[in-house]
Amino acid sequence: MARAGKVWLVGAGPGDPGLLTLKARAALRTADSVFFDRLVNPGILLWAKPGAVFFDVGKEPGGKKTPQEAIQRRLILAARNGKQVVRLKGGDPFVFGRGGEEAEQLAKAGIPFEVVPGVTAGVAAPAAEGIPVTHRGLSTELVLKIGARAEGSISGRTLVGYMAVEGLRDFLETAAVYGFSPETPAAVISHGTCRNQRSVVSTVRNLAKNTRKARIRPPAIVVVGEVVGLKKRLGRQVRGRLKGQRVILTVSESLSSGWRNLFEEHGAEVWEMPMTRIFFLTPRGHWKKEVEKAQWIVLTSGAGVRALTGLVGDARRLAGKKIAVVGRSTAEILKTIGLRADFIGPGPGSEALARAWPGKRADPILHITGNEEKGSFAGALKGNGYRVKPLVAYRNEGPPRLLRPVRDALGKEGADWVVFASGTAAERFRRLVPRWPEEPKVAVIGPMTSQKARKAGWKVTVMANQVSAAGVLQAILSKTQ
Ligand code: SAH
Repeated sequence: MARAGKVWLVGAGPGDPGLLTLKARAALRTADSVFFDRLVNPGILLWAKPGAVFFDVGKEPGGKKTPQEAIQRRLILAARNGKQVVRLKGGDPFVFGRGGEEAEQLAKAGIPFEVVPGVTAGVAAPAAEGIPVTHRGLSTELVLKIGARAEGSISGRTLVGYMAVEGLRDFLETAAVYGFSPETPAAVISHGTCRNQRSVVSTVRNLAKNTRKARIRPPAIVVVGEVVGLKKRLGRQVRGRLKGQRVILTVSESLSSGWRNLFEEHGAEVWEMPMTRIFFLTPRGHWKKEVEKAQWIVLTSGAGVRALTGLVGDARRLAGKKIAVVGRSTAEILKTIGLRADFIGPGPGSEALARAWPGKRADPILHITGNEEKGSFAGALKGNGYRVKPLVAYRNEGPPRLLRPVRDALGKEGADWVVFASGTAAERFRRLVPRWPEEPKVAVIGPMTSQKARKAGWKVTVMANQVSAAGVLQAILSKTQ
């Protein structure tokens, strides 16, 4: 049997596609099968990956329905066939959306699942009309209630309290006034969805005492009602092995999105802090001539490839010329503009490319480069009689400082991992970081980065076996129980 896939129970929000969460979008991007409801704005489906299969399991009022049991069976079947499944529901999946029932069935069938909450209509629709559902001086209570009694439902209530740590005792007294018995299940959840999420499950009678004992800190929510008992079955969502870990990604903006998704898929809280920002310089008049004269074009970064595109304008101008790249990832980027490298350096770095240089001495070489590594390739070839010219087409700069709130938060809470995909990033980040409560673990992409990171003062914890986001992730997972 195929390895079981996973089911994401995803909230699609109230309608406006912009109110879909980033997590929901990332889940959609990885899904093979998408089961959606009538209330889901079809515009949201455009975010799914090409080739994903869609199933309309919507229920028209009075029209054709897909029975709930059939939906559940199909979700389980798809996951058992190894598919990544997104079950997309209007608003929030657990607010009158039968998401809880689907989760129960998935849990019973042993299918890994994860809930991605959404913006619920009960709050969003009024807000869209300028109606705040709570307002100081006007309302201290918000009741979400279903208008029609759905078939098979029995009446029962859930009481949810905000600002729950300070006011817990009062709140539980109110619960009694509402008719909840002292034995009703009740829970406090602090820092919900954050990496330091904690909860205390108890009864109306004992919750205050147990919460105090557990030293729960605000912000927290309190929930009272029989639904709290469902946690036993639905609490085992599969959120990935990096759940609760803060991972700082310092890779450049142009590469980072694939990285972010990969780490989030494994449950990490990702902070993207790119240490390289590329500014392309306005091409000068003579640059085109330099390209014309060259026999070989040398590209030692993805930014170089992009600079070349801007510089040449029309790829036919490169006809008859040869292109050498520093390594495989630059060759891949070159492919995206429809060009194949004639020579790929053995790595690491432009020095290795220079040492392995395949061209003749007489062939003029143009190295399209950035301010930082301007002389590296030419320097390594120099003295051997080659005709090489560096052309600085972009500037590569780090951020001058960290955002104040980011810096403060890192200084107070720290991070679990920091990832470096280049030595430059390790050096630049070192200069910007606050005094951490504890140094984060460091993951690097390869030996060159490792060396530079150590030199910059980092203690390297793991190194990728493979120069890619997946390689770094594997290395980190190998250190995670
Ligand atoms: N899970 C959904 C609710 C599903 S029940 C959520 O969290 O929002 C379906 C009901 O939600 C509809 O009958 C309607 O009352 C309400 N609803 C959903 N989307 C809405 C919207 N965009 N505007 C107003 N009401 C909406």
